[in-house]
Amino acid sequence: VRRAVFSGPFSVEVQHAPEPVRGDGQVLVAVEYCGICTWEQRVFRGVRPEYPLLGGHEVSGRVLEARPGAHVRTGDLVAISLVPRCGCCSYCARGSDNLCAYTSAHPHDPESAHGPGGLSQVLSVNAGDVYPIPDGIGADVAALVEPVACVLRSLSRGDPRPGDLVAVFGLGFTGQLHVMCARAQKCRTIGILTDRERAWPAEVRIAPDSVVASTDSATILQHLREDVGESGVDVAICTRGESASVACALKIVRPGGKVIVFQSIRDSGGLTIDPSALRSREISLVGSLSHGREDFARAAALVGGREVDPSGLIGRRFPLHGVQEALEFAVRNPNLRTMVHLRDADR
Ligand SMILES: [Zn+2]
Ligand SMILES: [Zn+2]
Repeated sequence: VRRAVFSGPFSVEVQHAPEPVRGDGQVLVAVEYCGICTWEQRVFRGVRPEYPLLGGHEVSGRVLEARPGAHVRTGDLVAISLVPRCGCCSYCARGSDNLCAYTSAHPHDPESAHGPGGLSQVLSVNAGDVYPIPDGIGADVAALVEPVACVLRSLSRGDPRPGDLVAVFGLGFTGQLHVMCARAQKCRTIGILTDRERAWPAEVRIAPDSVVASTDSATILQHLREDVGESGVDVAICTRGESASVACALKIVRPGGKVIVFQSIRDSGGLTIDPSALRSREISLVGSLSHGREDFARAAALVGGREVDPSGLIGRRFPLHGVQEALEFAVRNPNLRTMVHLRDADR
């Protein structure tokens, strides 16, 4: 089978590997589509030099072989969760398997290729990590169950109620997914265009209820009063804009509000937090990382039931032999998901 290996800065190679063998309790899957997320883009750009990496973690496929009596059968379309988890540490036991102690305690061996391996034509994965998606949903859309799961976790960290006002900083791919999922939870949404959007004008396909093109808190609060009739937001989610978004978000949430750090932020940018404001206004500042099992199951149900439809956020599709070009394209076009189609390539 063929698979993509990130071998160095701005270099992804297609290599041959032996076809994986289905282990006990595993399902053999022919990968259909893999989305290119920011993690792969960072490795590609050399920001995270974790070579050689078997990248790709937003994956759909068709079942090639499963144990008799398994919950999936040969030919089924599936979404696959490739987050490694041990299933028995204290984090896994309490449903925070995205924080699994085992996987964080075992960093990769720099001599061998490592990683989720979603840009491989065939994968053998644990049966519990494979979620059937009904016929009629595109295999490309099924691959986006993973980012939907991450966004559902992020929203759950803010726990908005129906009718609540949710602000989303950044209207790129994950920002728009937040708008879509918040709306599915009957929340009202306001999109905040960050400086990044001015560098890469957002192709907004999923429009929030209102949009402000500023990360100045006074401007946003004025917009909220005049155009939305509110004095603040209940939940603010930072998907872009680094620390400046977090600083602004802390000022526009109302008392009791929650600020969620979804974006991976490398530089604190001199962010200062006023602990007395957190206390007196009872504001929560929380992070959100990847997805847990429950988030993935919910995402598969919502996408499978068409309650969340991310099809409009799919950008260009590339074949496996064009993976280098796909990465170059994804880096230049971060607002829609660039996808790699693995099915048509010869094994
Ligand atoms: Zn992702
Ligand atoms: Zn664990």
